[in-house]
Amino acid sequence: MNTSQGILRSTFTSLIGWLFLVLGLLLSGFVYSQTEANLYNVGYGYYNVYLLAREDNILLIDSGLPNKIKKLERRIRKVGYQPAEVQWMVLTHYHADHVGAAAWFQQNYGTKIIMHRDELPIAQKGSFDSLKIVTPNKLLGKIAYSQVIWEFPPFTPDILVDSTYNLSQHGFEATIHTVRGHTKGSLIVSMKDKVFVGDLVRGGLFLNERKPRIHFFAKDFKKVSETIQRLAQEPYKQWYPGHGGVLEQEKIQKFFRKNIKHLNNTAHE
Ligand SMILES: [Zn+2]
Repeated sequence: MNTSQGILRSTFTSLIGWLFLVLGLLLSGFVYSQTEANLYNVGYGYYNVYLLAREDNILLIDSGLPNKIKKLERRIRKVGYQPAEVQWMVLTHYHADHVGAAAWFQQNYGTKIIMHRDELPIAQKGSFDSLKIVTPNKLLGKIAYSQVIWEFPPFTPDILVDSTYNLSQHGFEATIHTVRGHTKGSLIVSMKDKVFVGDLVRGGLFLNERKPRIHFFAKDFKKVSETIQRLAQEPYKQWYPGHGGVLEQEKIQKFFRKNIKHLNNTAHE
């Protein structure tokens, strides 16, 4: 490829990227407002932030982008709570669209941040520098890559998790589990028949939000794949991803059968 072709190609990817972002934002108001008792999605645009409320005790799973903190606070108020009431924040992994508001909440409201121990160096540094595209749709992977935000305000988590961590000690009948693969120390949270999976899988784009898809990026795709296959056999009726809508178990199993070849392709390691 010569230089002008290269420039044309990167301009095209970037334009498509913007279109993708704008369309995502336009549609987000419709698809991201689903709630049920004591569980709300206060995310914005293409990412989800889950709020669990137990009377005046509030926990967030992930926190969204660093430049969308005001929007997150507005969403929290909209569902009837105050940002200052957020006592706990579980961060599934260190990507900026998940940890962006962590430092702000910790400094301003004394929110206690829970994260995997292996994510500590990047949390304290406030930046990461590599992402491996693993989605079967390479063009979509490149578009998503062009939109990545690589930096966030650094912070030091209050509680570092090594393996399994029971949240009942903080008033929530939920458990944190380590699932390595998307990043070195990614976490998921199980709560009865629900599981909050971070970026283990994602929902589809636009009108396919509730259809499971392989996430764009993974540090170790083999580990991601093993975890998806293991979790699909467990009694979690609904998976709550970091991006896209709620995914029903039967759709996950169907997705798993359909993508078995890609999931078993260890060439992505
Ligand atoms: Zn991620």
